[in-house]
Amino acid sequence: MGHSLENLKPLLRCPVCQKKYDPGKVVLLSEDDRKTVLHIACESCGISSLVFVSLGKMGAASFGLLTDLSREEVRKFYGSEPVSTDDTLSAHRFLKGFHGGARDCFPEKH
Ligand SMILES: [Zn+2]
Repeated sequence: MGHSLENLKPLLRCPVCQKKYDPGKVVLLSEDDRKTVLHIACESCGISSLVFVSLGKMGAASFGLLTDLSREEVRKFYGSEPVSTDDTLSAHRFLKGFHGGARDCFPEKH
């Protein structure tokens, strides 16, 4: 089990500016054996993202989604309604069917 979250944190990068995140800024939202959801606010560009990390036999795969939610909002959201299996499945299906990068999810604003 060489892929603990603590090992992964330093590897995470902002999907927008590619700057490495400060591990201390990573907020763990949910975690189970295979999948971890993190909220990270980039200090460099100010963009917040939700990062889904799945741990499999081949190692770790991560996928970032930009979000408007602040860390506090996300915490409230996750705290009030625990992530259900359905949520996990739908996220999984979404990730499985998605072949672009994080940028492709969101049209350029400018
Ligand atoms: Zn950034």
